[in-house]
Amino acid sequence: MPGVMAEGALLENEERARILAKAALFAPPTGELADGRRDLLGLSRTALGAELAALGEPAFRARQLWHWIYHQGATDFARMSTLARGMREKLSEKFVIGRPEIAARRASADTTEKFLLRFRDGAEVETVYIPDPDEERGAVCVSTQVGCTLSCRFCHTGTQALARNLAAAEIVGQFMALRDAYGEWPTPRAPRLLSNIVLMGMGEPLYNYEAVAAALAILMDGEGVAVSRRRITLSTSGVVPMMDRCGEELGVNLAVSLHAVTDAVRDELVPLNRKYPIQELIAACRRYPGASNARRITFEYVMLDGVNDSDAEARALTRLIAGIPAKVNLIPFNPWPGSRFAPSPEARIERFAAIVRDAGFASPVRTPRGADILAACGQLRTESRRRREDSGAEGLALAGASNDLSGRGEAGS
Ligand code: SAH
Ligand code: SF4
Repeated sequence: MPGVMAEGALLENEERARILAKAALFAPPTGELADGRRDLLGLSRTALGAELAALGEPAFRARQLWHWIYHQGATDFARMSTLARGMREKLSEKFVIGRPEIAARRASADTTEKFLLRFRDGAEVETVYIPDPDEERGAVCVSTQVGCTLSCRFCHTGTQALARNLAAAEIVGQFMALRDAYGEWPTPRAPRLLSNIVLMGMGEPLYNYEAVAAALAILMDGEGVAVSRRRITLSTSGVVPMMDRCGEELGVNLAVSLHAVTDAVRDELVPLNRKYPIQELIAACRRYPGASNARRITFEYVMLDGVNDSDAEARALTRLIAGIPAKVNLIPFNPWPGSRFAPSPEARIERFAAIVRDAGFASPVRTPRGADILAACGQLRTESRRRREDSGAEGLALAGASNDLSGRGEAGS
C-alpha cells in the first residue's frame, strides 16, 4: 500500500521537524566569550576552514590546526609550533580552545570516576569515566542535555527541569576534559584508557540531535580524537522518529531503554511510551541499520522490585525482541532519596537473567553506568546546586565532600 507508506513517511518527517524545532527552544548560549573571542572547539572541519579563510590562511592550515586541537589536545596557540608566529598571534586574539571547568571530581571504590563539569554560563553536567576492570580501556559517559524534559519515574535526572541543550562544543568538551584529566594526549593508537564513548549521561540525546551529530562527527574524525563508531553507543528512551536518522547518519551502536514489556507498565515508567509505544519502538529497532550479531542492539532494563521483574515478564521480553540481534543489560535499580522504587533482589535478577539467556540473548547484570551510576543520575549536580544555594559557596569541595559515594550500594564491581 504505497499511499499509506508515503503518508507514514510524511508524518514521520513532520514529527522529526517538530522535534528539531523544539530543540531550538532549549538552545545553548553561543560560544562567544565576554571579551568577544570565540571558541574553536566544536566547529566542524568546514567551519574551521572558513574561519581560517577569513583570516587569509590557506586550507591546509585548517588541517594543521585540527591536528593540534584534537590530536595533540592543545589549548594554547603558543604551543602550535607548525604554525607561523604571526598566525598564532592572530588566532589567540580572536579565538580560544575551550574546556569545561572541573567543578568536582570523585572516585568510587571500583575506580569509576565521576566528574561534575561546569560550562561558561554556569550550567553543570555529569560526565563519568568507567574503566574496564579486565582490560586497559574504558568508557566515557557523556551528557547531552542539562537535565531532561522526559521524566522517567526511576531516573533522578527526570526530576530536574531541563535547563537547556548542550552545544556540540560542550559534548566534545566533556571528552576533551577527561582526556586532559587522565593525561591521554596526544591521541594514542591503542591501548587507550578512554577508548569508548557512551551517550548515557544526563539528557535524551535524540532530543538534541543536531548537536549530538556534530559532536560525534568531531569525535569520530580519524585525524583527531579518533574514536570509531563501533566504540560509540547512543542510549535513547525511544524517540522513534529520530532512531532511523541516528542509524543512517551516525551509524553508532544503539542502546534502547526498554524497562518494561507492556505498554501499561512502560507508560508509567517511561512516559514517552505514550507517544511512541512498544511496538513502534521495537519496529524501529528491527530496521536499525547495521544491527548484526557483531553489532547488537542493547536493551537496557532497570530491575525494579515487584514492578517489571517477574518470570512472565522475562519470557515476554524474549518474545518481544525475538529475531533482533540484541543483548539485554539488566541494571539493578540505583535508589536515590525520594525515589519510589526498590532494586530487585539479587536472586530475582539472576532468575530473570537466566530466562533471557536461555532464549539466546546475552543478559549481563550491569552495575548501573552512566546517568545511573553511583549516586543516581543527576544527584551530584543537584547536590552541588543545593550547596551553592545554601552557602553561596562556589561549587563542591573536591576533597572530603560529604556523601562519599563508595559503599553506597553501587555493588563495587
Ligand atoms: N536518556 C537516555 C540516556 C540517559 S539515561 C535514556 O534514557 O536512555 C541512561 C540509562 O540509565 C537509561 O537506561 C536509564 O533508564 C538508566 N537509569 C536512569 N536512572 C537510573 C537508576 N536510578 N537506576 C538504574 N538505571 C537508571
Ligand atoms: Fe531522561 Fe533518560 Fe532519565 Fe528518562 S532515563 S528522564 S530519558 S535521562
